[in-house]
Amino acid sequence: MKTVRVKERAVGAVRRGHPWIYRDQIDHSQGAISGDWVRIEHRGEVLGVGMWDARSPLAVRVWAPGGAEPALEGRLDRALAWRDLLFADGSTTAYRGVNGEGDRAPGFVVDRYGDVAVLRPDGDGARARIEWFADALWPRLAARGVASLVLRDPDAPASTLRGPDVAGPVAALEHGVPLVADVVRGQKTGAFLDQRENRRRVGALARGRRVLNLFSYAGGFSLHAALGGAAKTTSVDTAMAAHESAQRSFRRAAVDPAGHDFVCADAFAFLAEAARAGKRWDLVVSDPPSFAPRESAKPRALAAYRKLHRACAEVLAPGGILCAASCSSHVPERDFVATLDDAALGRSDLSLRELYGPPADHPCVPGWPEGRYLKFAVLS
Ligand code: SAH
Repeated sequence: MKTVRVKERAVGAVRRGHPWIYRDQIDHSQGAISGDWVRIEHRGEVLGVGMWDARSPLAVRVWAPGGAEPALEGRLDRALAWRDLLFADGSTTAYRGVNGEGDRAPGFVVDRYGDVAVLRPDGDGARARIEWFADALWPRLAARGVASLVLRDPDAPASTLRGPDVAGPVAALEHGVPLVADVVRGQKTGAFLDQRENRRRVGALARGRRVLNLFSYAGGFSLHAALGGAAKTTSVDTAMAAHESAQRSFRRAAVDPAGHDFVCADAFAFLAEAARAGKRWDLVVSDPPSFAPRESAKPRALAAYRKLHRACAEVLAPGGILCAASCSSHVPERDFVATLDDAALGRSDLSLRELYGPPADHPCVPGWPEGRYLKFAVLS
């Protein structure tokens, strides 16, 4: 095993369980290739073993303390047993089976949609170890009724790794609500499973309300709202294909999409136009993509959230409910909540009623707070 020597400032984080070592925290490395296990050392002390990435600024994903090659099987058993427990009643068949770093399997995400599972590697290290990972994963998935394993490498077209070919959208359930995910062409692995509990929450709050779902993707918030008795839902996303998935899910749930609006538009432009036209909604959901992929983008991200939340507040009817989400890992919960303060919203009648983090199938490690990227605030 090759050795990488890390700088002093990386040591504490590695000891606390932080799974990432950036290239600028490395003093010296021995020419490993992506996917190699490397021994992480500081002043002759072995801190752990990690997976090397020769290309990314994220050079090492730390897999284990000590110097031995990490075993994968036990981690997968533990991750999957937790989901067996969470989803035992069968009402949810779309969930994250392995949450990478959060399940102590850095670089590998596995999402399940009914009898199809999707493996998504993050970085060249994981990419080089796909077969190693799939070999351990597959028998465990097959034993749980999964028929096919699809590979969604962010840099390549989808392919089927195990089982019969999967060519198109697959159907699954989220708290009993149909979810049709395009695992081949959709964003990420086909759906954003981290919002499951929040979609259910919106369903429970929607009765009789006109619902505006901004950044709607496959329409999950809208469908839960429609089934929860919303008067009407309006879904806004720039991606036309997302609306097609949404309408498939609506039809599967026996909700006629013709009774609802699906608008292909930039959310900011849509809000500006709606405010000008005096339109109002009784429940507004905002779930934008990450505004802060890097720490340096944080100030700009906070300004963008404030602007977005102000625009949402402008179209919120009196007595309305605002649900605002953030998946920016560099915006901590406290800072996010501050983008919903009275000055940001331009009104002083809304209280923070509920505040949620990631769901139980998206675990994270305590020594890596950025792993808890999801925030979901309910104001009214
Ligand atoms: N709420 C969704 C997930 C949203 S992901 C769910 O429950 O599944 C973010 C979405 O925002 C993506 O679908 C992307 O296509 C869309 N998007 C990105 N920029 C946008 C913009 N400026 N206006 C509208 N939609 C946008």
